[in-house]
Amino acid sequence: MEKVSHRQERFEACEALMRIDLDAIAANWTSVKRFTADCEVASVVKADAYGLGLAKVSKRLFAAGCRTFFVALGIEGLALRESLGSEVAIYVLNGFDRTVCDDFVAAALRPVLNDSEEVSLYAQMPSMQAVGAALMVDTGMNRLGVSLSEALSMGPLPRGCELVLSHLIEPERIERASNARQKERFAQLDDHFTGFKASLSSSGGVGLGRDFVRDLVRIGIGLYGVRGRGFPGAVHQSVQVEAPVLSLRSLARGDTVGYQSTYRADGPMRVATLGVGYADGVSRNASSGIGGEPRGFAAFRGVRLPIVGRVSMDSTVVDVTRLDANEIRRGERVELLGPTIDLAEAAELCGEVPHSLLTRYGYSRIRRVYTSGADHGQA
Ligand SMILES: *Cc1c(COP(=O)(O)O)cnc(C)c1O
Repeated sequence: MEKVSHRQERFEACEALMRIDLDAIAANWTSVKRFTADCEVASVVKADAYGLGLAKVSKRLFAAGCRTFFVALGIEGLALRESLGSEVAIYVLNGFDRTVCDDFVAAALRPVLNDSEEVSLYAQMPSMQAVGAALMVDTGMNRLGVSLSEALSMGPLPRGCELVLSHLIEPERIERASNARQKERFAQLDDHFTGFKASLSSSGGVGLGRDFVRDLVRIGIGLYGVRGRGFPGAVHQSVQVEAPVLSLRSLARGDTVGYQSTYRADGPMRVATLGVGYADGVSRNASSGIGGEPRGFAAFRGVRLPIVGRVSMDSTVVDVTRLDANEIRRGERVELLGPTIDLAEAAELCGEVPHSLLTRYGYSRIRRVYTSGADHGQA
């Protein structure tokens, strides 16, 4: 019988694809490494490496030199340990529970301790202490972590817990006072604990200054192609999404497009129906707004094409009036993310963040294809 993979390749021309450039991801890691010099650059590969594929992405990052990884779940940690072997440190952001202690120990997963109960549990378990852990201290997020006052009233860090974390609320807004406030709160721990490594910043915080970088940075979205504010190094796009044109049609004034007739043509126009929808990861929030204003775009040969009407499960309609007649044909491939449609910009326009846009594509029906760009400098 014919191998499924061959048949799959034949079908690719008719489907939406997500192209992932692993060399770009590696080059982005190297770029942060160069900028932060002696600081450790840890890769955040939770949620299947933001939807791009945990095994492929983490192996490429390992080859680039990364030795510390963060995942969210223990089960993600197990998968990562299996693909990378014993040489890397793996931290589990959502922590652990009594029921999974043995699994954490067996796979040498280090939990991030997120509240005082979890700290006590860890302190009772010598086998876990031999593996290690990190302590999350809440400096304002009110999500996870022991409070600053709890941390300041703790004795020494539990054995094996040599990394102390906090997380910034809005690093992408340099001007916000919250950044300096969180940094100062975090710095109070320097006089309290001894012999630990400190980590305050995710991708967004790296460009805020040396005192935000500390000993270890946790880079997620920056690896996948989004530039943090103030970060001067190179950042390469790692993801492109494309879809085929299924059909083209002309509309007259008054014609409507799609479910619930939310878009009405106010004059003659031409539209193309693309074979990509919300089941492939397009955000339904990218549907056009009440007055027809665009909240999402596709692009063809560098020309931006506004999404019109509601995004459907398997298709999305775009306005191609700006293209010359016959310039675009059935079967042609159109960009949803890539050189013309920037990830961060696309996310903002439809009320998402780059992280949610990527995981939306990554956890959908869309097929991932891996490429190696190779022209991103020495990675
Ligand atoms: C997800 C996460 C990160 C990575 O954030 P990016 O914005 O993707 O760089 C870092 N630290 C913690 C605690 C996180 O939850």
